[in-house]
Amino acid sequence: MRNRERGVPFAKKSLGQNFLADRNVVRAIVDGLGIGDQERVVEIGPGRGALTSELLARGAEVTAIEIDRDLVPELIRQFGDQPSFRVVEADALTVDFHELADVPIKLVANLPYYISTPILRRLAIQRECFSSLVLMLQKEVVDRMTALPGNSDRGFLTVVVEAAFEAEKLFDVPPGAFRPVPKVTSSVVRLTPKGPSDFDEDHFERITSAGFRQKRKTLLNNLKHAPELGIEYPAELLSRAGIDPKVRAEDLSLDDWIRIVRHFLTR
Ligand code: SAM
Repeated sequence: MRNRERGVPFAKKSLGQNFLADRNVVRAIVDGLGIGDQERVVEIGPGRGALTSELLARGAEVTAIEIDRDLVPELIRQFGDQPSFRVVEADALTVDFHELADVPIKLVANLPYYISTPILRRLAIQRECFSSLVLMLQKEVVDRMTALPGNSDRGFLTVVVEAAFEAEKLFDVPPGAFRPVPKVTSSVVRLTPKGPSDFDEDHFERITSAGFRQKRKTLLNNLKHAPELGIEYPAELLSRAGIDPKVRAEDLSLDDWIRIVRHFLTR
C-alpha cells in the first residue's frame, strides 16, 4: 500500500515499522557504533533509510537487510548509485551473517519489537561475525537485558545475552522521535561479543529456560518440574554447585548458572 501523495509505502505495523524521525537520535546511534572510513556495517531493517544515510555519509560500507519488499525499491532509489551501499531483501532471522560480508563486521539496527528475542538469540549464536553491535529496542527489553542478579527484570533473555555479550545501555529515546509515534520508550544498547563459551551452550539454554519458567517459584521448584532436563535429584545438583535451593532464578549470576551446567554434565 502506498501513500499516494508522496509515493512512499505506508508504515506496516505488522513489521514493527516506526521510523526514526529525529536526526539527533540518528547521529547518536551512529556515534555509539563508532564508524571508521570504509568500515563494514550490516544494518537490519533500514526502513526508509534514516540510519543508512548517516552511515553512508560517514564513509561506511553498508549491507542492509530489509524484509519489506515495498521498501527495497525506495532504498535503491535513494542509495543505489553509491557503490558502498547494498540492500538484501531477506528475513534477518534466517540470514547467515558469515555469508553477508567479510567478518567481523559492525551491526546496527532499530529493531522491530516483535522479533527482539529471536533476533538477539540469533545474533548471540553468530556473535563471532561481529566486532560490535548497537541496537535500539523497547526500553523494557533493554532493562531485562542488563538487569543484575537480584533484580526482578532478570530473566532468560538476560542470561542468554550475558553469556554472549558485554551489554552497555547508552541512552533512552522518547516515543516522539519516531513516525508513527509508538506507545513506548526505546533504549539504545551497545553489545560487545564475548569469545566462544567454555561451557555447553545447549544445556545452558535448556537449564536456564527451565529455571526461569515460573519466576515466582524457587529455582528448586522450577527444576523439579522440568522432567525434560532429566535431573533426577535437583536439590543435590544445586548443593553440589553451591547454590541455595531456596533462591529464585533471578538471584543467580551468570557464573552460578555455568556452575550448575558443569555439575549437571559431570553427574
Ligand atoms: N532503520 C529504520 C529507522 O530507524 O527508521 C527502520 C526501523 S523500523 C523500527 C524496523 C525495520 O525492520 C522496518 O523497515 C521493517 O520492515 C524491518 N523488518 C521487520 N522485520 C524484519 C526482519 N525479520 N528482517 C529484516 N527486516 C525486518
